[in-house]
Amino acid sequence: MIHLNSALLPPFMSSMLVGSVFVISLGVQNVTASANTTTTTVVTGGTTIQSGSATSIATNNTSTPNATSTEKLNVVTSVSPISNIVKNVAGEKITLTGLVPEGINSHTFELVPSDVVKVNDADLVIIDGLELEVNVEDVVDQAQNTNPDLQILKLGDNTITPNQYVFDFSFPEGTGDPNPHLWLNVPYAMKFANLTRDKLIEMDPANADYYTENTDRYVTKLRQLDEGIMKAVQTVPEENRKLLTYHDSWAYFAPRYGMVVIGAIQPSDFGQPTPREVASLIDQIKAENVPAIFGSEVFPTEVVDQIAKEANVQIVGTLSDDDLPGDPGDSQNSYVGMMLENMENMLVPLGGNVSALSNVDPADTYSSG
Ligand SMILES: [Zn+2]
Repeated sequence: MIHLNSALLPPFMSSMLVGSVFVISLGVQNVTASANTTTTTVVTGGTTIQSGSATSIATNNTSTPNATSTEKLNVVTSVSPISNIVKNVAGEKITLTGLVPEGINSHTFELVPSDVVKVNDADLVIIDGLELEVNVEDVVDQAQNTNPDLQILKLGDNTITPNQYVFDFSFPEGTGDPNPHLWLNVPYAMKFANLTRDKLIEMDPANADYYTENTDRYVTKLRQLDEGIMKAVQTVPEENRKLLTYHDSWAYFAPRYGMVVIGAIQPSDFGQPTPREVASLIDQIKAENVPAIFGSEVFPTEVVDQIAKEANVQIVGTLSDDDLPGDPGDSQNSYVGMMLENMENMLVPLGGNVSALSNVDPADTYSSG
């Protein structure tokens, strides 16, 4: 199977994509400009109305998107856990568009032309960073040529410094891309929420109190989640606090909660491991005597079952780093819900229990209106 990353497309193909959208975007801007000149209502910084009667303001509200103080910020996010964290901070005061569909792996996903349009129309793009969404960053760079007000917030890059980057099994230092899965460490997810709050207040100060209250409520829940995970891991026998996973997403989780990542099966090119790599993993599993190994929700593969069988491991659990459980609208379809499901699937097969997490409600916490 070949995964295409649009960042790896020949430059002429990316510019073809961006070039065609460039024209669409210009068209929209022309319409906006002419609407502004006919109503003569000018808004600066989203709040100050410099001219125009009440009537013309009302007209302008319905005919000119993005030109009034009542217009919501248009925010584009990448992976679904980040989309959900942003949603819990921003609630109903922004228009939120997630780029990476549920169940699609975030490492090799391709941007389609309609995604490029979404980025072009955005006020703010929020991503993890750490080289996870290089293709999105390229599109933002292009879009900023015609939309200089477009901002990008890289949560991960503002959460840890390069000397805290983890390079490991599927993210070796030689390739230069650090392990990007910061959000599986709950205090880092709290930082993501705080960074989002600060950026939204900067861009939309009229709703500062709303963003602050939502964030306080959400961070309280994340603190509960963090403490619950800490206690739940303690119920796993110490010699079993080891993770061997297919997808290498637990690099920042493990040190936080006292576990050790002993290996990952997926090679750094996201292809299949060689027979030789499989053989050495089997030896390692036998030597470490782990009771369970873990497959990935977004990278279903038979190789995990094959390794488990040959290493005589009884249990294969499934873990997820960017696929939220349930369907949109379900209370567990959230970042917190994903972490709760992961803990059940991870800690119980290793011999622990998750009763310390039974009081953590996965539902979103933002208030309506
Ligand atoms: Zn991942």
